[in-house]
Amino acid sequence: MTKTVLRGRILSFEREPQSPEDVEAFSYIEDGALVIADGLIEAVGTFDEINTSECNVVDHRPNLLMAGFVDTHLHFPQVQVIASWGAQLLDWLNNYTFPEETRFVDKAHADGIAKVFFDQLIAHGTTSAVAYCSVHTESAEAYFEEAARRDMRMIGGKVMMDRNAPDGLRDTPQSGYDDSKAMLEKWHGRGRALYAITPRFAITSTQEQLEMAGALAGEFPECHIQTHLSENHDEIALTKELFPEARDYIDVYQQVGLLTDKSLLGHSIHLEPREIDAMVDTGAHPVFCPTSNLFLGSGLFDYEGLRARGLVSGVATDIGGGTSYSMLTTLAEGYKVLALRGQKLHPFRAFDWITRGNAETLGLADKIGTLEPGTEADVVVLDARATEAMAIRMDRVETLAEELFLLQVMGDDRAIAETYVAGKAMKQAV
Ligand SMILES: [Zn+2]
Repeated sequence: MTKTVLRGRILSFEREPQSPEDVEAFSYIEDGALVIADGLIEAVGTFDEINTSECNVVDHRPNLLMAGFVDTHLHFPQVQVIASWGAQLLDWLNNYTFPEETRFVDKAHADGIAKVFFDQLIAHGTTSAVAYCSVHTESAEAYFEEAARRDMRMIGGKVMMDRNAPDGLRDTPQSGYDDSKAMLEKWHGRGRALYAITPRFAITSTQEQLEMAGALAGEFPECHIQTHLSENHDEIALTKELFPEARDYIDVYQQVGLLTDKSLLGHSIHLEPREIDAMVDTGAHPVFCPTSNLFLGSGLFDYEGLRARGLVSGVATDIGGGTSYSMLTTLAEGYKVLALRGQKLHPFRAFDWITRGNAETLGLADKIGTLEPGTEADVVVLDARATEAMAIRMDRVETLAEELFLLQVMGDDRAIAETYVAGKAMKQAV
């Protein structure tokens, strides 16, 4: 089989950069070669030292090759509610999102949206993501089928929700458990797919349903668990009303076994000290969704506060509360959220975060998120001169850190010259 060699400037993070000067945290090759065979990275080095005879060489110079981006929280059935006007979380769910998600009982509709959804991920350089499907098994089927067709490492799950939602959008504790288990047994570990147990959030589940979700998590401890936590003050107040026995919001999940090092807790903004302790004790992961938090006026994530406690956070788009599929735009808005908190998101940490960092959050850093030999060949090609405004700014850029910050602040899908999934060029082929 012919091997593929990607030639270009190669950047890969090895650990979390501690400062804008921490150049030991990554490897950078000015004229590099990335050798791909059977969907895996076989070797990385300078172009001169790699034997490229009988290889298919693709020259991406002067562009930058990095690991494909990883999005740790978004909603597959919300493609058509992005940019819905004038609401905070609970009204936004009831007025826009829930009616939209009822459509996904129709497999043909779910299939059509899945194609668009995955096209958008690839166009924006995202090669792995963790998504909520709708309550219907049809939506999870459509999601996993389309991911398999493209050989993408995707995590997802059918939402479990049995109250405080309209007709057509509720399961029951038993059917939610049975359907999730059937999907999990069908898809988890099949090809590159992984299943996430997905109780939507406390408000839309009864105690009985959460207990059954916790039981499922206990049966399949290798699966991720995804849900939402402390996004909005009205949401927190309603949760406390619905679960008067719980010590706090996170206790609703903790008491039923839904808080582990596989737990991805979307938003995690308005946290009480005991809730942070509970995350530290269990190794659960907060997930920062800046465009969504700004759009819905939810609040400002305390990046440094949680990091100081040793928590490993993810960063994510949260489509469709979030307003962009782009992890670059997500980093730009993340920078601004942190600025409002008097904190800094420097470019080395930012690009580490959407690659190796998010992979580490998912426990998958041995498979995705870096360009280490032996890992899966998901690669993004970045062009910092993609627009005229970026190109003119690039004329004044002198360092890699400055180039990355330009991509972080001004970049979007136009800056993604190509996206490789398991070694195959996917963007220009779309
Ligand atoms: Zn969400």
